Amino acid sequence: MSELNAVIVGAGMAGVQTAVELRQQGWRGGITLLGEEPHAPYDRPPLSKSVLLGAAGGKQGVDVRFEVDFDALGVELRLGLRAQALRADEREVVTDTGVIPYDRLVVATGAYAVTLPGTSGLPDVHPLRTLDDASALRPVLDQRRQVVVVGAGWIGAEFATAARQAGCAVTVVEAADRPLARALPADVTEPMRGWYEEAGVELRTGTPVAAVEPGEVVLVDGARLPAEAVVVGIGARPATGWLGGSGVALDSGGDGAVLADDRLRTTADGVFAVGDCASFPSARYGERLLVHHWDNAVQGPRTAAANLLGDDERYDPVPYFWSEQFGRFVQYAGHHTTADAVLTRGDLSAPSWSVLWLRDGVLVALLAVDRPRDLTQGRKLITRSAVIDPAVAADPSVQLKSAVR
Ligand code: FAD
Repeated sequence: MSELNAVIVGAGMAGVQTAVELRQQGWRGGITLLGEEPHAPYDRPPLSKSVLLGAAGGKQGVDVRFEVDFDALGVELRLGLRAQALRADEREVVTDTGVIPYDRLVVATGAYAVTLPGTSGLPDVHPLRTLDDASALRPVLDQRRQVVVVGAGWIGAEFATAARQAGCAVTVVEAADRPLARALPADVTEPMRGWYEEAGVELRTGTPVAAVEPGEVVLVDGARLPAEAVVVGIGARPATGWLGGSGVALDSGGDGAVLADDRLRTTADGVFAVGDCASFPSARYGERLLVHHWDNAVQGPRTAAANLLGDDERYDPVPYFWSEQFGRFVQYAGHHTTADAVLTRGDLSAPSWSVLWLRDGVLVALLAVDRPRDLTQGRKLITRSAVIDPAVAADPSVQLKSAVR
């Protein structure tokens, strides 16, 4: 395959990891990595953690760049260049400045932050997705401005943590009746209200935002919250607009994700998709998954690179992510639905606990709060579809692995 040329669009974790995996797995042809952002490729999780906490602690310059030597890998980096369209029949990517031909293409364009309607162009309203977003937020923390965070999801909670640490007054407003309403059941999110309170963050749930006006956020119940800055953390959508009409099937009735198959191939010949931009059918969970977490952007490229090189590997991971919020290390592995049985392991008002989800007795997912050993053991048990004795697993003093039947 030495004569073939691989083009990767999107230079985030999934794109970079694809380039690295292609070389490691023996791709000898050209690799071009195209990224819209002007910065050297960088990692996103620190943007809502050490980058902001660095600001809180007065430290400067947390380095988030990937430690990858692109020259040594023989990867041509083309930054500040946006793919505008795909001509799959001609095997060409159309960019701002011309056309890039490919033999194999990997779509790794990630996701973009959802905006609050009516706020585009307002100077003090911030998303938190990119390095530029994080840089724009550092002065907000440095100057201890009064902040309203819209959305009590993962990003909102992490930003609120850093902002409190910096000494900002923080209010978090959430349209749903509780934090993390889309991700976790009410019993599990209830103790999290206390996390906000302990940190001195005012949490207002069940109160959608009606408008953002200069210096304040107006809620639908008429409340007006003073805000010197507004941070919006209301989700992310796959950045796939450039693929419209290209022959790469998208979930156009849904979130626009690339509909990859279980080999991470798209519907266009020679085109693969990885990371936040693509969903895939999970045999393990019996449904299509769209995973917006770092581990998926690391694991998917391994499979995509193998298949691009001619293997026939199925992608069926146990999803994993972590969050650092309010001094806690929160980890989740697997995937659950509302139909799965919930089992608590420890007192949810205690500093550390876990929650397990069982499907017909099989462990399918686990959330661990400051219980990393539960996570490590649980992840392995989920991978091997272990049947769990609920009575044993409910006892936090017993190792989780000994609850296997
Ligand atoms: P992205 O990182 O979005 O990269 C895609 C790249 O493609 C971007 O640089 C984009 O500019 C570029 N691009 C888009 N369109 C085009 C185009 N048309 N042409 C050229 N380039 C294009 N996950 C966890 O598991 N734990 C965490 O603690 C955690 N924290 C996070 C904190 C923040 C602030 C954010 C934003 C995310 C966090 N995540 C976390 C999620 C994780 O970072 C993402 O899942 C991961 O970055 C996805 O990688 P990706 O390469 O698929 O997409």
